[in-house]
Amino acid sequence: MDTPPTLDALLRDLRIRLQDAGIENPGLEARMLLGAATSRDTAQLIAHGTDPATPAQATRVDALCRRRCAGEPMAHILGRRSFWTLDLGVSPACLIPRPETELLVEQALSVIDELDTDKPRVLDLGTGPGTIILALKSERPGILAFASDRSEGALQQAQTNARELGLPVHLWQGHWLDALAPQPHFDVITCNPPYIDPGDPHLTRGDLRFEPRTALAAEEHGLADLHRVIDTARACLKPGGWLLLEHGFDQGERVRRRLQQAGYRDIDTLKDPAGHERTSLGKH
Ligand code: GLN
Repeated sequence: MDTPPTLDALLRDLRIRLQDAGIENPGLEARMLLGAATSRDTAQLIAHGTDPATPAQATRVDALCRRRCAGEPMAHILGRRSFWTLDLGVSPACLIPRPETELLVEQALSVIDELDTDKPRVLDLGTGPGTIILALKSERPGILAFASDRSEGALQQAQTNARELGLPVHLWQGHWLDALAPQPHFDVITCNPPYIDPGDPHLTRGDLRFEPRTALAAEEHGLADLHRVIDTARACLKPGGWLLLEHGFDQGERVRRRLQQAGYRDIDTLKDPAGHERTSLGKH
């Protein structure tokens, strides 16, 4: 009978297969996939690298590697993605949390800290797996956290994440602000809507192929949902409350113009670490 491969040998083989498939970070992803297949963290994998792998582990590694080489996102294979300081459960029903959205979280935190209330009411629209609202609630437990999503699958994931993290959020199913009367309910509204032009070739590449189209692309060159949220959110903000939006790198000017037309003041746009205009905000 063949000697079983060691964990180190499985890792090397994985890295080469991922590299050959054109994966950008083959070393990192190989460790993550081997960790998932063997239920061990990186430190354990290093300490036990010379251990023989069981046939079941080798089979699981192979299956995960095939999925990744076929393009499936790591977040879907692992069912998790790190965002902010949180480890969030992720499913194909929701947008995968992305690092650029941390800019919106940072800005929302500083806006929350400037408010004239010690129980700010904060709403996240189209929350997906709860990305923004859970990061905010984890940093400022005193906020009253609300979030909605149109997708039932996304909402279930947000619910699971909130429960796992022990962060209470009032969640409901609904499309943007449709379910709410236009009254001053909130101090802060955040939203990372779909903003990609439906004709953008990026939609046919990488992780985006596997994410819900409704969470990524919007009509009017990606601006339809941004416009809708801008136009309806102001009536649901308290005077002095803030709307914060993520948008595409080339949409800042149009978003600022729309915020202005809708009556917001103190409008500003922030750049993400890549130097792209990514988050805009305006005050009621
Ligand atoms: N930032 C994502 C991307 O460009 C899109 C997310 C979104 O549409 N809200 O891949």
